[in-house]
Amino acid sequence: MNVFSLLSGLCFCFLMACNTTSTPADETTSAPLVKQTSITDNQTAKMATPPAIKMDSLIETTHLMGKFDPLKDSDFIEIDIQYADRPGQLLHKETYAAFIRMYEAAEKAGIKLIIKSATRNFSAQKAIWEGKWNGQRLLEGNINAAKKIPDPVQRALKILEYSSMPGTSRHHWGTDIDFNAFVNSYFEKGQGKKEYEWLVANAATFGFCQPYTHKGTARPDGYNEEKWHWSYLPLAKRLSDQYKIRLTNADISGFDGAETATQIDIIKKYVFGINHQCL
Ligand SMILES: [Zn+2]
Repeated sequence: MNVFSLLSGLCFCFLMACNTTSTPADETTSAPLVKQTSITDNQTAKMATPPAIKMDSLIETTHLMGKFDPLKDSDFIEIDIQYADRPGQLLHKETYAAFIRMYEAAEKAGIKLIIKSATRNFSAQKAIWEGKWNGQRLLEGNINAAKKIPDPVQRALKILEYSSMPGTSRHHWGTDIDFNAFVNSYFEKGQGKKEYEWLVANAATFGFCQPYTHKGTARPDGYNEEKWHWSYLPLAKRLSDQYKIRLTNADISGFDGAETATQIDIIKKYVFGINHQCL
């Protein structure tokens, strides 16, 4: 059992109703763990110290930066193909349970939420980032960043309009999902508009928040708006809190262009340059 399991199974359950043996679909029917197991007085006394803070501090920083294989992590589960546009995608089990609840509510309202991207670990994000950095992946369909933008900071800032540096993506955590389309224009008319309006009105009920809202005075820094990207806050908030405490720009390394992270102030501007309602 890794630290994530420990968190989900002990700390989270101590505070909230859930069951370590439950499947995602029946999670809401479970009773608090504290009533189901025989916890000694000594253990109870130990758990009386703030458990979330105590247990969250055990999360490995490598995990926060996506440096693990979600396929080999028992906290992650493959998304059923009925919910996704391709097989083989993964989510943290807690996120998946909440997503299914939201999916079913949306379906009743005539809204279909199809997962286009979910967990991406460090190496998956590195492939995306370096493809753009080195010009194999064109930006906006036709810009070769390696040729067009020789200045490293300017090149990184251009890629950062929509793509994270490896080690800084919320997709590392298994808490964040991209729905239906990767362009904002899809969500501004027709069925896409209905889908977005449903998410804005209802996603919070299921724990989801849109981190990359319109960029402007309310959100001056970070990625451009992404109407498709939603984050499961009950888990993501705990991970981002640990990220803030324990990682610095100097930790962001191990890929082409990483030397720009400190100058850009990547953690403050991008990891935390999000919709304040998601903090
Ligand atoms: Zn996303």
